[in-house]
Amino acid sequence: MGSNPTPSANLGIEREQVKVHEYQAKALMAEFGIPVPWGGVASTSEEAKKVAESLGGKVVVKAQVHAGGRGKGGGIKLAETPQQAAEIAATLLGSRLVTPQTTANGVPVSRVLVEQASAIEQELYLSIAVQGGTPFPVMIASLAGGMDIEEVARTTPEKIHRVLVDPATGFQPFMGRQMAYGLGLSGDLFRQATDLMDGLYRLFMAKDCSLAEINPLVVTGEGKLVALDAKLNFDDNALFRHSELNELHDPEQDDPLEIQAVSLGLRNYVKLDGNIGCMINGAGLAMSVLDIINLAGGRAANFLDIGTLNDSDRVVNAFKVFLMDSDVSGVLINIFGGMARADVIATGLVDAYRSLSLNIPVVVRLAGTNVEEGRRIISESGIPAIMAVDLADAAQKVVAAVKEAR
Ligand code: ADP
Ligand code: MG
Repeated sequence: MGSNPTPSANLGIEREQVKVHEYQAKALMAEFGIPVPWGGVASTSEEAKKVAESLGGKVVVKAQVHAGGRGKGGGIKLAETPQQAAEIAATLLGSRLVTPQTTANGVPVSRVLVEQASAIEQELYLSIAVQGGTPFPVMIASLAGGMDIEEVARTTPEKIHRVLVDPATGFQPFMGRQMAYGLGLSGDLFRQATDLMDGLYRLFMAKDCSLAEINPLVVTGEGKLVALDAKLNFDDNALFRHSELNELHDPEQDDPLEIQAVSLGLRNYVKLDGNIGCMINGAGLAMSVLDIINLAGGRAANFLDIGTLNDSDRVVNAFKVFLMDSDVSGVLINIFGGMARADVIATGLVDAYRSLSLNIPVVVRLAGTNVEEGRRIISESGIPAIMAVDLADAAQKVVAAVKEAR
């Protein structure tokens, strides 16, 4: 991102992975020839009723949030009549939905998708994602639809079929046949499946997705293959090519602390559920710090990679985000200076103590470039930061300090 301030119009969309709602993902899928249920989005119960009337028959009312597991969380309900659809919409709209994939605080529901209820004969799974460790997208199909794919991979791996697609040659007809066969489809359903897979691959490539997932992909009572759920994530490195996606972004679904972090120039911040704020340089080091905090019996409140900075203000900004988070009751700073300089971090820390009312314990482990100078700045400043000799020592000290402070 560099040092330019993030344009406010893009706030939140400067994410690792950009998400859209199910109704938006379905509209994009339909553009690529993938069959989706008839339906419409509503933000009031009157609108929900109108959509249900126009569809006729039974409908399903679905909370639109950037989290899965809505069925389990009570965010998906069947309505027999338009009046009932209106009532369900009224209870969902304005509420916060808690699902197995959200925090206990849930996510706000401002829209519902009202769509025709499908007669489900069979639930399958289909997705394309960028495969870690290879440069290729991988298509995954599973016979256990409606379930978390990680869970299926763990418990019944034989139900999962995979094919790697070389983007240079694209999705080949034999790949579609191999996957449709793996799903046990035949006859007309077989042909529908191969067409649908081809459409999903074209969508994935055209929109620079990082994930395109249909879970469940259902076989209906009329013998049709329909995408009953739709999830699309986009690679933020390619967003400059897709101004159309910017408009689909719903900032309401982002974690408010993550939005603040982005606006303060801290792009690699992820809110977690523990109570120790972590300021680390480098994502790999940040991951190990989370593990070592766990080993020491603590839990991180966030993942923050401040990157290679030589700007002490960023350290102050990181503290601002930590202090906005009522969960944070201690901070661990672990900087291994390579390109980043320990003296700059130390200066930022002293500035943070002077400009913010920091009354939580802060444990600092500095190593690498200009570390002597960094330590001198901290000790001469008289700030009450707790110094640590190595990472294990730092983790133990912060866990102990947080316990004591409580
Ligand atoms: P989530 O994955 O967030 O729980 P889904 O869209 O996958 O949400 O819906 C959960 C379940 O609800 C599906 O597995 C399916 O059984 C049912 N469902 C969802 N949409 C419909 C629909 N249009 N018609 C009938 N059943 C549906
Ligand atoms: Mg689903």
